Amino acid sequence: MAKDYYATLGVRREASQDEIKKAYRRLARELHPDVNPDPATQERFKEINAAYEVLSDPQKRQMHDMGGDPFGGAGGGAGGFGAGFPFSDIMDAFFGTASAARGPRSRARRGRNATIRVELDLAESGFGTTRELVVDTAILCEVCQGSGAAAGTHPDTCDMCHGRGEVSQVTRSFLGQVMTSRPCPQCGGFGSVIRHPCQECSGDGRVRTRRTIKVRIPAGVEDGTHIQLAGEGEVGPGGGPPGDLFLEIVERPHPTFERRGDDLHCTVQIPMTAAALGTSLTMETLDGAEQIDVRPGTQSGQVIPLYARGVQRLNETGRGDLLIHVSVETPMKLDVEQEELLRKLSQLRGEERPPGKFAPGQQGFFSRLKDAFNGR
Ligand SMILES: [Zn+2]
Ligand SMILES: [Zn+2]
Repeated sequence: MAKDYYATLGVRREASQDEIKKAYRRLARELHPDVNPDPATQERFKEINAAYEVLSDPQKRQMHDMGGDPFGGAGGGAGGFGAGFPFSDIMDAFFGTASAARGPRSRARRGRNATIRVELDLAESGFGTTRELVVDTAILCEVCQGSGAAAGTHPDTCDMCHGRGEVSQVTRSFLGQVMTSRPCPQCGGFGSVIRHPCQECSGDGRVRTRRTIKVRIPAGVEDGTHIQLAGEGEVGPGGGPPGDLFLEIVERPHPTFERRGDDLHCTVQIPMTAAALGTSLTMETLDGAEQIDVRPGTQSGQVIPLYARGVQRLNETGRGDLLIHVSVETPMKLDVEQEELLRKLSQLRGEERPPGKFAPGQQGFFSRLKDAFNGR
């Protein structure tokens, strides 16, 4: 005999909070006792209120979804204006305005977000890491639990606005008497005054502290990546919910590798003779020392790819590549014997007066880069 509150509001089971609120407001306007005083309508009005009270609260909604009774039997469900009832939403339904301006405002406000910069080296950003971060933040005052009032005392109802949080004023104008209201100057709109502030937090409800938090930084983040840690920011005034903490990643430049996305690029210089005859190099990659084969006849600008030796892809499997750009060094300062040998070689190859090959612009560079990506 559990009620189906989704049916009561006429929304789908997977309706968003926004859809639920809209459906509720539409029905509340239709069924409000001031509009429609007959008993059947009033009964229905109570039901939509109960449905909204449950479905607008994620915890109660989950309980309802699992077939439980979020009211725990007490109050029988159609409680209407219970303690947790979102009165402001009904004001919204009628006046179409945010009712925040009406009635006393809460002392509790959401805490601010905070951002801290985290410097990582390439191996840390590429493969992920765990960091202990020290953050200066505000936490709930344990003495007053956020209320701001000294132990054993309570905020007193403001005697200027009598708890309303606003004061009204009647002024005469050519339209006649006009009533305006403004936030109460004595209590600042809170409707209450803290006469004996908590000594620990001076009435703010929170204290500043230095906290150490351990965070896991996922593999594949890069310079400028923001990581959101929900609820790790500072607690709000008056015991309000905490804001979020954002980590901004700053990547330290690597002495050898330049990172482009998930790929790493570097340049290796080899002598002309080694490029012609082929050679083998030892290179320190992020995975340790690797043997690199330079094939005989390697050209300057050619790219030697090491597949899957780049950084880890963020939130994906697989890694980028490591691309080694070869730069062939032409020998300089030849001694007599070396020059003799080179002249001999150019004679043997018929290269004493080479015509040269002309190619448009950067074409050669780009096609070689493409070859490297295609695995040739
Ligand atoms: Zn306190
Ligand atoms: Zn006041």
